[in-house]
Amino acid sequence: MLPTLDEIFEEFADLDREDQSQYLLELGDGLPSFPVDARTELNRVHGCQSQVWLITETDGTGGEAAFTIRADSDSNIVRGLIAILQAAFNSKTAQQILDYDILGVFQRLDLQQHISPQRRNGLRGMVERILLLAHRHLSDDGQGNSIASLVVHVDSCAVPAKFLPVPVQSLDGEQIRRQFPVLNRPLASGQLPVYLDSGASAQKPQVVIDKEREVEEQYFANAHRGTYQFGLRIDEEFEGARTAIARFLNAASDSSIVFTPGTTVGLNMIAFGWGRRHVQPGDEILTTVMEHHANFVPWQQLAKERGATLRLIPLTADGRLDLGQLDEVLNSRTKVIAITAMSNMLGTVNPVGEIVRRARQVGACVVVDGAQSVPHMTTDLQAIDADFLVFSGHKLYGPTGVGVLYGKPERLEEMDPIIFGGHMISEVRIEESTWSPAPAKFEAGTMPIVQAIALGEAVRWIQSIGLEAIHQHEQTLLKSTIERLKAVPGITIYGPELEHRGGIVSFRIEGIHPEDLAALLDQKGVFTRHGHHCTMPLHGHLGVSATTRVSLAAYNTQSDIEQLMQAIDFARRTLKKV
Ligand code: PLP
Repeated sequence: MLPTLDEIFEEFADLDREDQSQYLLELGDGLPSFPVDARTELNRVHGCQSQVWLITETDGTGGEAAFTIRADSDSNIVRGLIAILQAAFNSKTAQQILDYDILGVFQRLDLQQHISPQRRNGLRGMVERILLLAHRHLSDDGQGNSIASLVVHVDSCAVPAKFLPVPVQSLDGEQIRRQFPVLNRPLASGQLPVYLDSGASAQKPQVVIDKEREVEEQYFANAHRGTYQFGLRIDEEFEGARTAIARFLNAASDSSIVFTPGTTVGLNMIAFGWGRRHVQPGDEILTTVMEHHANFVPWQQLAKERGATLRLIPLTADGRLDLGQLDEVLNSRTKVIAITAMSNMLGTVNPVGEIVRRARQVGACVVVDGAQSVPHMTTDLQAIDADFLVFSGHKLYGPTGVGVLYGKPERLEEMDPIIFGGHMISEVRIEESTWSPAPAKFEAGTMPIVQAIALGEAVRWIQSIGLEAIHQHEQTLLKSTIERLKAVPGITIYGPELEHRGGIVSFRIEGIHPEDLAALLDQKGVFTRHGHHCTMPLHGHLGVSATTRVSLAAYNTQSDIEQLMQAIDFARRTLKKV
C-alpha cells in the first residue's frame, strides 16, 4: 500500500537530508508491479538516464474517470519519484491532473537536492507524459482538442532551475500543417500535397522561413568578424542558435556544439579528424548493416586506410540489433562503434544508451548518427553519454546546408580539424599554425550563418509544441499506417514491431516495382520515396534492391494516411494487381 501524499510530506518534514534520500528509495521498493508486456518503446519515457516506462489506466471514459499512473524503472531513485507522482496524481480525473500544482509538490519536498540534473529531466519527461495522456483522454472524449501538446518549460535544460508544467497548445495535425506554406499550396491537380518523405527532408514552418528572411533583410553580415551593429547582432543570433541547440539536446556546454554542413560532413569529420588519429592497424570499427551510407562508407574507407577491420553487430530477423551477440563482435580491439540511433529504412530505434554502456567496458568511442532520431524523439546527451552525435538541419524543419556535430569536450580536444582556414586558427606563422579551441577549431571559413540561425528557430518551434507530443503524434500515425498497410495483399513490411521503431515504414508489394508505385502515388499527390534510401548493404541483407518508404513528421495527419491508402489502391488497380 503506497503512502498518501500527506504521509510523504510528513515523513520528509521529519527527516534530515540523508534519511529523506533513504526514504525515497524505500518508496521505490514499495511500488506495485508493472506489467512486463507494457515495457515497450511506445511506453518508454524519453529523456531519462535510466529506463522508465509509464502508462495510465482509467476506471472508465469521460471527464469523471479516475486515473491510475503505472510506471517502473530500473533505477530505485526513479522508482521513488514514481511513487510520489502516483501519490500526487492517482485517483484524480484528467482535468484535475491538468490543473494540479505538481511543481508545488516538488518544491515542498525540495526534490532538487536529492536528484541530479539528468534525473530532473527524467522527472520532467514523466510529468509531461502524464499531462499528455490526461489531455488526450479529454480530447478523445471530445472535451478538448484532438491531441494535446504539453510542455514542461524549463529555462535551461542543462541545469533546470525549476519545474514548470504548463499546457501550451494543442498538437492538432491540421493546425500544425497550416504553419507549413508548402503543404498548403494546391498542386496542379488542385489537391494539397500529401508529404510522406520527411525522412529525406522535412518541410519548414513559416517561422523558420520568416527567420531566414529577417536575417537577410534586416541585419545580415558575416559572423565573428565585424563589431559594427550588424556584426554584433549576427553574432548574438548565431551563438543564440548554438545555445538553443545545446539546450534542446541537453548538452553539457554550448562549446560542444559544432555547426557543420550536415550529417554526412559531420561523420566524415569524425572519421578522418578523430578516427585517423586514434584507429591503429589491427583495431576494429564496429558498425551495423542498417547504417545510412553516410555512417558506413567513411568508416569502411578509414578501416582500409588504417589497416583496421570493419565489423558488424548482427541483426535479428525483424531488423533490430541482436545484442545477445554483441560480445561476439565487441572486444578490447574495438576503437569505435558507429551506430544510427534510428534506421532511415527500417525505422528501428536502437538502444544507444545500452551500446554506450557496453562500449565503456572496452574503452570504445561511440559515434551516433542522430539524423533520423533527433527530429522525432528526445535526445538527452548527458543521459546517453555518447562521445559524438551528428544530425542535419533539413530533417529537423530547418534549412539545408547546416547540421550539428556534438562532441564531448575531451573528444573534441583530441580530434583534428580536417578543413583549415579562417576563424579556426589561434596563430598562423610561416612554418606552423595552431588552432582555436572547439567549436571554432572545426568551423573554418564562413559558416552557413543564416541557416544556423534558422535552425535555432526550428528548435524553438519544436519546443513550443513539445517533442514528446510530436513523438506521440507520429507514433499514433505510425500505428495506423502499419495496421492499414498490413491489410494490402502481397505486402512485405520491413522492420520491427511498433514499440521498437519510429515514424518510418518501408515496404514492397508483390509484383509492383517500388519506382512504379512511387510514380502512381505521385499521380495522386502522395509523395513517398523509393529506391535503396542510401542503405545498399541493408537492402542486400534483406535480399531486395529497392523499397517504397513512408516517413512521418509533425504535420502529417490521419487524412494523409487515408490518402496514401487510396493511392495504393489506385496503383494496384492501375497495375492490375487487384
Ligand atoms: N544518416 C541518416 C540515418 C540519414 O537518414 C541521412 C539522410 O537521409 C544521413 C545520415 C545523411 O544526411 P545528410 O544528407 O543531411 O548529410
